Formats: sequence, C-alpha cells, structure tokens
Amino acid sequence: MAAARIQRWAWTLSTYEYKIFYKKGKKNSNPDALSRLPLNRVGKTEVPAEMIMLMDHMDSTPVTAQQIKAWTRKDPILGQITNYVLKGWPNYRDNDEMKPYFSRKTELSVFDSCLLWGNRVVIPNPGRDIILQELHEGHQGISRMKVLARGYVWWPNMDAEIEQTVRACHKCQVNRHAPPEAPMHPWEWPSNPWSRIHIDYAGPLYGKMFLVCVDAHSKYLDVHVVNSATSANTIEKLRTMFAIHGLPESIVSDNGTPFASQEFQDFVQRNGIKHIRSSPYQPSTNGLAERAVQTFKEG
Ligand SMILES: [Zn+2]
Repeated sequence: MAAARIQRWAWTLSTYEYKIFYKKGKKNSNPDALSRLPLNRVGKTEVPAEMIMLMDHMDSTPVTAQQIKAWTRKDPILGQITNYVLKGWPNYRDNDEMKPYFSRKTELSVFDSCLLWGNRVVIPNPGRDIILQELHEGHQGISRMKVLARGYVWWPNMDAEIEQTVRACHKCQVNRHAPPEAPMHPWEWPSNPWSRIHIDYAGPLYGKMFLVCVDAHSKYLDVHVVNSATSANTIEKLRTMFAIHGLPESIVSDNGTPFASQEFQDFVQRNGIKHIRSSPYQPSTNGLAERAVQTFKEG
C-alpha cells in the first residue's frame, strides 16, 4: 500500500519538468525557514497509517497491540531502544544484545509505544513463542513460515527460531516433500475484496438464526436472518449476496451441519468456489467469522 502511495507521488511529480538552480540559504527563505522552525516536540517518526499495523489485516491476532505495548515498555532492551528512537542514538552500545537494533537504527520507528522495523512489529520476548506457534499452524514448513512472518513481525534470531521449530516438529518433517498445495493460513490477507469470505451462524436470538458473512479483505460484514440454520437457507442467502457482490473465490466455514451437507458441497462446486473447512486441529482458520459473530452479538 505504501509502495502504491509512493508510486502515486512519483507519477504526480513526473508530470512536471524541473530546472534546478543553486540558491544561497539566505535567499531561499521559504525552505530555510522551515528547517529553522522545528516543531516543539520529541522526534517521533510519523509512519503513514496504512504502513503500520499490517497486523490489522490479519484475521486473528495471537497477540494484541496492548500486550506488545506493555511488553515493550517492560523489556529493558526494547525500552532503551524505544528511547533511542525517540531521543537519538548514542555512538556506543551497552551490550551485544542491542546489536541487531543498532544495525537497523535508521529503519526503526515507534508507533503507539510499539517498536517497528519498517512495517514489521518488533515482538518482545513474551510474545515470540505465541507468534511462533501461530506461524507453525498448518505445518507449512520453514520457507512459508518465514514468508508469513516477514509480512508482519520481527525479532532478533526470528529466522533461526522458525527453523528450530520446524526441525523439532515431526509433522513438518513428514510433510517436507508433500505437494506444495498448502492449506490456508489465517495470516494470509487476500489482495482483492470479496475473494475470500468467511461464514458462520450466530444465534438463536429472538427465535432466529443469523448467517454472518465477512469479507477477509475489507472486513465488510453482511448478516442475514433465517428461521433455521439449514443448508437450503444458507444457499438462498449466499445466492442473494453473490447476486450483489459477485462470486468469491473461496468460502471459509467450520464443519457445522449447514456447511458440511452434500447440498452445500454441490452448491459451491457448481459455482466454482473453493470451500475451505476449518479442521478441529486448526480452529483459528475461521477466526475471522468467529470474531465477526462476536462483533455482531455485541451490536
Ligand atoms: Zn510442524
């Protein structure tokens, strides 16, 4: 997204032709004034909103921004690094543990008391194992885990820890030479709206059931009231939605009866939609729908 924005700026600027002149500072008073009138606050790097919290796009976050904030503050190293980012870096470093941060100092920033390296969130120690476990879900192997991790998170030795996790896992070793068609990982964010939708039922509420449907890209939420959660009712409501928004590439659901029936299987197949059913071993596959149901219930 940020890249797209930079590209837009580049296009805008490329429509002009430039002549560059040298002007003494004294005569170049407009930019000179700006450089001499710093704002009265500590130097906090402003990162465009769309660049940071890429984690927001994740269907389910294993750790929250609040937790990262609290852990970062408590961690002696990360606390110090945050200070350096905000107030300036010293020429020396106190210990070797700070080395990976010093070598990235021009690319580190602070957002909402969380440290970022580029657009990746620096995960403090207490969160690393949780993230590793989440990445390991589905036993996708070293390279897929690294790719997913690099889109969102970083900490020193992260790559080595991913490798360790996979080597210590029997299932990953067995799957190593399996065909590359890996199951969906909840961290994958589809690049187009309405390409992957998650569905689930909420209720009963006032004697009705509610088909909750959420688009993984935009988080657009659609809720339909039905008398009972049957395959026929589900299909009817999905038809209505598809008539408005078009056919999605895939539907994610749990193994509930309305989604597991032959009738439903025939429906998705006829429409060329891939049906991903969350397995009991991978409950968070459909975390997005479950969260949407929560949001709906709260509403
Ligand atoms: Zn594994």
